Parts: sequence; C-alpha cells; structure tokens
Amino acid sequence: MSRKIDVGKRILSANERYALKNSQLLGEQKKLCLNMISSPGSGKTTILARTIRDVKDKIKIGVIEGDIQTDLDAERIKATEAPVVQIETGGSCHLSAAQVSGALEKLPVGDLDLIFIENVGNLVCPSAFELGESGKIVVLSATEGDDKPVKYPAIFAKSKVLLINKIDLLEAGAQVDFDVERVRADARKLNKGIEIFPISAQTGEGMNRWYDWLAESTKNLQGD
Ligand code: MG
Ligand code: ZN
Repeated sequence: MSRKIDVGKRILSANERYALKNSQLLGEQKKLCLNMISSPGSGKTTILARTIRDVKDKIKIGVIEGDIQTDLDAERIKATEAPVVQIETGGSCHLSAAQVSGALEKLPVGDLDLIFIENVGNLVCPSAFELGESGKIVVLSATEGDDKPVKYPAIFAKSKVLLINKIDLLEAGAQVDFDVERVRADARKLNKGIEIFPISAQTGEGMNRWYDWLAESTKNLQGD
C-alpha cells in the first residue's frame, strides 16, 4: 500500500533470494552449514577452534567468519589450518545471505563436510536474516546470565542446538549467578526439539556430545 512497505519487501526478498541460492548450493553438494549466533564474548571462536582440532580426522570443517571489524577471529581459525573466509561487515550487526554467497564461492566447499558461519556477535537481529543455512546454533555462556532465553526468545525458538558455554566457571564456585536448569527449561518452553549441550570449550568438558551430534548430522545429510 504505502511505499515504505514496498521498499521493505524488496530488501527482504533480496536476502531471501540469496538465502535460497545458498541453500540450493549446499543442498546439491549435501553440505551441512551451521549459523552460529550469540552475544559478543560468549566463546564462539574458541568453540570453533577447539571443535575443528578435535574432530579433524572425522569431519572436514570450513568457516565463514563474520565480524564488524578486524580479522582477529579469522586468524584464530586459520591457526587450526581449516579453510576460512573473513567477512568484515563494516558496521552492520548481522551477516546477509549475499555476503555468505560470496564467501561460499571462496571456500573449497567440495572438500568439506561442514561449514560453520560465525555470525556477528549479536543475540538479536542475526536471528531475523536467513542465510540459507541448514540450522542455527545459539551459544549462551554462563557469564551472560540465565535470563537470556526469556529476554531474547527468537533465536532460542529457531535454533537446532543450544550450547551453554563456560560451565567450568560454575563449578569453580565463582561468583556466577547462572542456573543451567532454568536455561534448559526456558529454552525448551520456546523450542521443544532444541538440543542442549552444556560445555566448556576451555576445558573440553561436555564437548563429546556436541561432536557426536555434529558427526551424526553430517552423516545423516550425506547418506551412505
Ligand atoms: Mg568470535
Ligand atoms: Zn543487524
């Protein structure tokens, strides 16, 4: 009706067109692609670097690194020897499907089993931009507070997996007010099927169940 709505629609459908293109490419090649979303500082890059190193004999992983500025995280992934493509969004607080499309062209997709997209650190708007991924992974760390599923429901409702990171801090008896069971219950209220893995990417605690999930999801997609 009004012009404003038309413009909004056109922008959205451009992102949707690229998302479709990405998901078709990934689907044809049977590649699992996981879009990792969290607040800044939850440990996404640490989780990725450890995961890549620990599963490298079983799952070949490539990474698309999104950051507003700097390639610091991409350098940490590069140190694992996994292929990585950096996207600097130059101020934008989320990745677009067009940016991911460009990054997929630079990755050796045919040689990989799994592509991680590390989205820009932001719990809000990345959940609204489909990238053509196979699924979303939300990361919440114990230092952020256990009220996040209630306060930011969209991303918890849409994710396949919730990684509760930095659980080693809870057990050290530190001054961290975080109830894992509350998070679990609140996340399940929003999303009955969400897989929840409490982990510490620092100590490695709980990581095996996450790796098993990755191996199974990759295998299911590739068939036999
Ligand atoms: Mg990071
Ligand atoms: Zn944004």
